[in-house]
Amino acid sequence: MEAEIEKVILSEAAIKERVQNIAKRIVVDYEGKKLTVIGVLNGGLIFLADLIRHIPFTVKIDTVRVNTYLGDATYPKREADIVDNIRLKVKGEHVIVVDDILDTGKTLAKTLQMIKEQNPLSIKICVLLNKRARREENVVADYSCFDIENQFVVGYGLDFDNKYRNLPYIAVLKT
Ligand code: 5GP
Ligand code: MG
Repeated sequence: MEAEIEKVILSEAAIKERVQNIAKRIVVDYEGKKLTVIGVLNGGLIFLADLIRHIPFTVKIDTVRVNTYLGDATYPKREADIVDNIRLKVKGEHVIVVDDILDTGKTLAKTLQMIKEQNPLSIKICVLLNKRARREENVVADYSCFDIENQFVVGYGLDFDNKYRNLPYIAVLKT
């Protein structure tokens, strides 16, 4: 895998430190509240797993599967499709949706719309990466670990052709 990496843009240590800091903010903001954290699969899997282990109080976890990319193409489909919805009921809960990256915003706009139908008490977004330059939808990250430039990255949950998700860092591939 490593032979295909052009450059590491966020090291394992940098990610670890930042995830811990964001988790601390979440702990302060949600202590004493009923919280459900919803991860967006597959990309948000690693970030979700690391983030929730810093939360010391009771929290419910669920996932939603959303398709935005076709096969191994690096171009997003025009619409995001929810292909597997949450099972938990979030009425009366505070909700945080966790994803790997906020890019055009289509994935999270669709996910939020679906969750809002259940009337949760509140809903916020937490992403590892934020690519502000590519935004098409009016979606704002309430918690964001890193702003990145408009480049295609892999690792820490993010894939290319379903590979590289298990890299512990964020990197750009050789072209
Ligand atoms: P959006 O719907 O915001 O355009 O895209 C969000 C989804 O597209 C992310 O959850 C992620 O799966 C994918 N995505 C966006 N940018 C990148 C990127 O740079 N690398 C990878 N691997 N996936 C990306
Ligand atoms: Mg995704």
